[in-house]
Amino acid sequence: MINMRLINVLIFYSVFVLGGYNAYSQSIILNLPPTVILSENHISLEDDETMLFDSLMNLSSLGIVDASLIPAAHLYNYVWDNRLVNPYQRRVIDMPDTMVIDFSQFCAPNRNLVTSDFGFRRGWQFHYGIDTRLKIGDSICSSFDGMVRIVQRGRAYGNYIVIRHFNGLETVYAHLSKHLVKVNQIVRAGEIIGLGGNTGRSTGPHLHYEIRYLGQPISPRDLIDFESHTAIFRIVDLNAEHFAYAKELEEVRYYTVRRGDTLSVISRRLGVSVDRLCQMNNIRRNSVLRIGQRLRYT
Ligand SMILES: [Zn+2]
Repeated sequence: MINMRLINVLIFYSVFVLGGYNAYSQSIILNLPPTVILSENHISLEDDETMLFDSLMNLSSLGIVDASLIPAAHLYNYVWDNRLVNPYQRRVIDMPDTMVIDFSQFCAPNRNLVTSDFGFRRGWQFHYGIDTRLKIGDSICSSFDGMVRIVQRGRAYGNYIVIRHFNGLETVYAHLSKHLVKVNQIVRAGEIIGLGGNTGRSTGPHLHYEIRYLGQPISPRDLIDFESHTAIFRIVDLNAEHFAYAKELEEVRYYTVRRGDTLSVISRRLGVSVDRLCQMNNIRRNSVLRIGQRLRYT
């Protein structure tokens, strides 16, 4: 009796649950361990209308998704999220060991001039990628073999793509005019994944390109020669030094300008010289301050 019930459950499961799977995607093989484990917050339906509730999320919540196709699945604790750029909550700033990354496949996403570098911008805003100029419609290529993790539209990034690579890195391509790949799709190094554009928070057609490890951005300048658009090293020894900037960022503090504030008032209140405030915020002694403006003071 119990066996019959079990068989009925299995039939129901294979016909309705697995059968329904085909409607979503062909890229995930079923019924093979280990499973992808997503914590609760990764499958919550939030207010984001762009959220993609894809096959992997559905299937992983049922415990029937094969993780062996997902690049660097173990390194990323089997988290595979199709919505958040950094869902990992991992602190790599103090990584004790060196991680050896195979960079030999590297293909430049495009081969144009750098217009904005990784690092602080306008004194206080941090730029987590590198920008290259382009014409709308220019081809954008995947840097390495990998699997597409995110394809969506964001307020700041515009149309963007995130790819997880087999070498353990992830790359982000933003402000695109068009996506040419689907979520969970396997891509090759150099494959065209989208077209350059001017979507999102962008003041002219460009590509915003990021390289991340466990969710934390790395300066692409440390790894890529943007004159020749080639990799500096075939093998990269990734270590805590690559994330030293993040340590500095943790110490940064901001002051929000209030009514009646002047640089000298703020200087006295915070105990930081006017010259230092000007230098850190890239402003002049006689610059007009706006109420609500953020000033960096450490
Ligand atoms: Zn950018």
